[in-house]
Amino acid sequence: MTTTNTTRREVLLAAAGVLAAATLPIARAPMSRAQPRADVVVIGSGYAGAVTALRLAQKGISCVVLERGRRWPITAAGDTFATAVAPDARAVWLPGVATGVLEVVTGSGINCFAGAGVGGGSLVNYTVMMTPEEDLFTASFGDRLDYDEMVNRWYPRARELIGCSPIPDDVLAAGQYSAARAFDEASRRAGLEVRRVPMATDWDVVREEIGGRIGPSATAGDCILGVNSGAKLSVDRTILAAAEATGLVTVLPLHSVTDVRADGDHYSLTCAVLDTAGQTRSTAEFHSSTVVFAAGSIGTSKLLVRARARGDLARLPADVGRYWGSSGDHVTVRLGRTADGQGGPAHIVALDWRSGTTPTTLLNFPLGVPVLGGLSQNALAVSITPPSGSLVYDAGLDRVELRWPADDPEIGRVTKDIGTILAKIGAVTSGAAPALALPAVTSHPLGGAVLGTVTDSYGRIDAHPGLYVVDSSLVPGSTGAVPPALTVTALADRCASALVADLTR
Ligand SMILES: Cc1cc2nc3c(=O)[nH]c(=O)nc-3n(C[C@H](O)[C@H](O)[C@H](O)COP(=O)(O)OP(=O)(O)OC[C@H]3O[C@@H](n4cnc5c(N)ncnc54)[C@H](O)[C@@H]3O)c2cc1C
Repeated sequence: MTTTNTTRREVLLAAAGVLAAATLPIARAPMSRAQPRADVVVIGSGYAGAVTALRLAQKGISCVVLERGRRWPITAAGDTFATAVAPDARAVWLPGVATGVLEVVTGSGINCFAGAGVGGGSLVNYTVMMTPEEDLFTASFGDRLDYDEMVNRWYPRARELIGCSPIPDDVLAAGQYSAARAFDEASRRAGLEVRRVPMATDWDVVREEIGGRIGPSATAGDCILGVNSGAKLSVDRTILAAAEATGLVTVLPLHSVTDVRADGDHYSLTCAVLDTAGQTRSTAEFHSSTVVFAAGSIGTSKLLVRARARGDLARLPADVGRYWGSSGDHVTVRLGRTADGQGGPAHIVALDWRSGTTPTTLLNFPLGVPVLGGLSQNALAVSITPPSGSLVYDAGLDRVELRWPADDPEIGRVTKDIGTILAKIGAVTSGAAPALALPAVTSHPLGGAVLGTVTDSYGRIDAHPGLYVVDSSLVPGSTGAVPPALTVTALADRCASALVADLTR
């Protein structure tokens, strides 16, 4: 292993190429491989990792981005991703089995979806980019962040970085979007406010699909497994691409970080280097005095909780793994014939932020399975629930588990309130069966390394100088009853500004 001699500013990523463990299928991994040299190591390449890499590079600071998943380049043939009607190994992330784009994390009381691949959650999400209103933002963040600062400075920058625009009239009028129009109409008649919100969608590509010049993908409702036409503006094609174009950012796909530990005046990271079947082909070591956690709420929390419990990062605060929440997510399904045109990724939201006790945003989303699509109306309800979940280390299994108190009366109250909103829509929709609101699945895991508990208000872990958290694990469980990606990006940009200031001081 190469010996490293690091200062806070100058970081060496050591060539290591450590042999894979004997139990792993490939016994003869390369003994040494040239690792890139860089100033900073970033773990994860979703919104937070991409913004951090870009901001570092813009100040002349190089970084290596370690990403567990693979790259998903859009092809002219439109065959990058699996689809819901023809799923294959590209669909799922299953350690040791498949390196697909969507991970289902099973917890006790709740399950989560998370993106896996260069681009993280932006590969699989519904691209709705909303800014919370002040009182709801405060209900989630308390005094951890200043709303005026966020709304005047960081949210506009995040929208510009991501590239957002609402669904245009001509697209909404197309046959492929008849379900969106039906949701719009039913929500209005139920007395809800309906909005076309900013989306990370390239509507010109959607127009190409509608015109038949390229194959249907977004317009067919494909989304959660990726959009083959390129209509989705995932960060690998926007923010991270800009970062890589500087020449100062090296993204290493299929590098899954397994351990981070304090090692004298720097930190050592171990990665499993995977093949596309999810098998570990070798391990690699990186050494750096500046490490940025951007592996998402679940990914970052797992690494930190385990490192604290095993004494690898022994000075981490006891609150690591705590204040985790689901954005108040409830998957809602109302059976009954609606409309066939299930175009996506998403398009219209209906709001009830003030009339009841639970502020709620309903995001109409397609299933991507046309034969089912016309038989149900589906919406994800996003609200605010207490961040009472946690990630806990099980020493016997050497595993971090997600725990959610599903029987918490407060969560039951939110579920009931969302049911009341759905009943209002059901009352104005002929032939619709009663709706279900299920709190057992979330697409929006948040928390585990929360601002002001594990980190300072800029993501610095004071107890371990040089460690930073910049991602969705900073957020205490919800982002003001709207989906979180824009807030996560804005917050990451804010944290990256502090990181850059620290490194250039
Ligand atoms: C199905 C789905 C739909 C969604 N829809 C919306 C929406 O419409 N609007 C919205 O605002 N939000 C939505 N979200 C949520 C949004 O995508 C996330 O909040 C956001 O991606 C979080 O950003 P992040 O940078 O914190 O983490 P991520 O984007 O999750 O990025 C983390 C990255 O780290 C990698 N990683 C994890 N562990 C390791 C490791 N050990 N080593 C190396 N790499 C690792 C992951 O592979 C991933 O690429 C959705 C999410 C999902 C799953």
